[in-house]
Amino acid sequence: MVNEFVYCPRLFYYEFVDGIFVPSADTLRGDSDHRRVDQGSGALPKPESSDPSRQITGGEADHQPDGEKNPSETIHSRSVQLGSDRLGVSAKLDLVELQVDGDGQSTAAPVEYKSGRPRQTDDGIEIWDADRVQLGLQMLILRENGYSCDVGILYYRETRQRVRLAWTGELERWIEEQVLGARQCASGPRPPPLENSPKCPRCSLAPICLPDETNWLREVIGSGEPTPAAGPGGPGANDEGTTATGRGDMPAEPGYKPPPRPPGSLARAGHGDDAPIPFPREKLPRSRTRPGSRSDNGELRRLIAAQDDRRAVYLNTPGMTVGLRQGRLIAKEKDKVIQEIRITDVNHLAVFGNIQISTQTIQALCGAGIPITYFSTGGFFYAIARGHSLTNVMTRIAQFRAADDPVTCRALARRMVAGKIRNQRTLLMRNHVDPPEAVLRRLQQAQADVDRADSLDALLGVEGAAAALYFEHFGGMVKPRRTADDEHSAAPELTFDFRTRNRRPPRDPVNALLSLAYSLLAKDFTIAAYTVGFDPYVGFYHQPRCGRAALALDLMEEFRAVVADSAVLTAINNGSVTSRDFVRAGNAVNLTPAGRKVFFEVYEKRLNSTIRHPVFDYQVCYRRAFELQFRLLARALTGELAHYVPFTTR
Ligand code: SF4
Repeated sequence: MVNEFVYCPRLFYYEFVDGIFVPSADTLRGDSDHRRVDQGSGALPKPESSDPSRQITGGEADHQPDGEKNPSETIHSRSVQLGSDRLGVSAKLDLVELQVDGDGQSTAAPVEYKSGRPRQTDDGIEIWDADRVQLGLQMLILRENGYSCDVGILYYRETRQRVRLAWTGELERWIEEQVLGARQCASGPRPPPLENSPKCPRCSLAPICLPDETNWLREVIGSGEPTPAAGPGGPGANDEGTTATGRGDMPAEPGYKPPPRPPGSLARAGHGDDAPIPFPREKLPRSRTRPGSRSDNGELRRLIAAQDDRRAVYLNTPGMTVGLRQGRLIAKEKDKVIQEIRITDVNHLAVFGNIQISTQTIQALCGAGIPITYFSTGGFFYAIARGHSLTNVMTRIAQFRAADDPVTCRALARRMVAGKIRNQRTLLMRNHVDPPEAVLRRLQQAQADVDRADSLDALLGVEGAAAALYFEHFGGMVKPRRTADDEHSAAPELTFDFRTRNRRPPRDPVNALLSLAYSLLAKDFTIAAYTVGFDPYVGFYHQPRCGRAALALDLMEEFRAVVADSAVLTAINNGSVTSRDFVRAGNAVNLTPAGRKVFFEVYEKRLNSTIRHPVFDYQVCYRRAFELQFRLLARALTGELAHYVPFTTR
């Protein structure tokens, strides 16, 4: 882990303190390269050995006599685990070459395998600093365990080069500084991202870290106070007084005290109620002259994929069964295979109503970090199953503290509601046949009223009035194509004539679609909340209530109009759904299974459509934008950013 600290302190913090590890092509290649050495027994003769073969217990280190001229012997020990009590560190050594001379004197040299290549400089090749500290620490540990060790070797597989590292006093001091630095880093707030670093595009944590986005927002809106300690032992401290690592090679030093933190309440960090609510473009000045957080052309580098290549699978037919065969999901209806898809191509599985999923399938999906969401036949989102992947407790600690503070709740809620109203107004302007000027003005006024709302109740009043106004004119955006289906509909009263929003149950086709769309949106925001490390049930605007995913509901406010309402309008106005896709049951109107299937496709298409992100000005799909909002919220709660920036479309 110390090598991660040398590569980037923030990377170290994510992995060591938060327990977040995302494999990359480099790490997967490295894992594959290490497979052979990891099969070693870990046995290593004692340093004072004169007859090494007798000193090895429980192992089978390789013995290689060096020939008759030289009676010395070389022993290869693989996967050796050793530690230093003085520094409180441990290491797993790929390979130790132990040279034993005829007098029984041994010299150890650690060999570390790397999948890449050494650093090329004008003066020749060099060892990367992260590799230097890793190998140097192994040498230091060998020395502290009584071995004579003056040289270590890095073997770079890509170029097949063995590069030697000589032990010096300077190297020793540098390593000790890095160990101390890593320990202090783990006990403090999250370090800021590197600035415009070439390391970031290679870093698998870039989509989580958002280095350029965070640096840029810190430039323009500032940062709040750092996260205070999680408890007596600092972030990640557990009951045993060791630091929670996720990879566990650096137990906390007994009696070690983290440096004091700045005073201040996390809950209030950066969320002053008086701060104006910033909207991208008008309120956030662009700094194209400062290269710190931008590439040379002044643009933010997009280090996240614009889209998720995997897809959501919706299963909607009662009586269906889902099983697993050779890494593929097999959905069957009466023993007939209806759908077959590789697990690696799925980002989540949504099941509606009475559908059976085998235990093996649930295990495989949970193991792969793919959530399963459960809906009633009527589309009510009631459960989610997922694996144990929530390791970054600090985000949730910050969330709970903030949720316990009424001032912070109100400040965050004001930004979310302001974003929602603004996006409703934008949708009306874009899609209404004749957007009434007076309505647009009143919605603009409502945004200003949000700034003045001095309680959550007052805010609810402003939001409710704006929603009533918006839905009063929602019908002006519904422009259904008349199809042959409508002519022959068994229930001609099921039209897309929209008068007002109603629910529980929805009483007309447009409301049935809106209810389903909000349910799907709540599902996707619950998944995104978990992905980022939040508890979706603890919100700021929506106050906690049993069974209500309050935080998911909070953040989806900004996206209701631009994603859910927009998908409903597309489905109706394009003729994807017709009156034949609905059934009436008493007062309620529901979609038929076929109608739901069509709407799932329209909704997923909306989620996967790319937009220019209003804050970061690069292309992403809505599904990614959901996750980005949660990451921005996490930064605001932990003080990395001065406040939360709502998502508002142009
Ligand atoms: S993306 Fe860059 S700043 Fe962020 S953890 Fe990786 S190397 Fe560090």
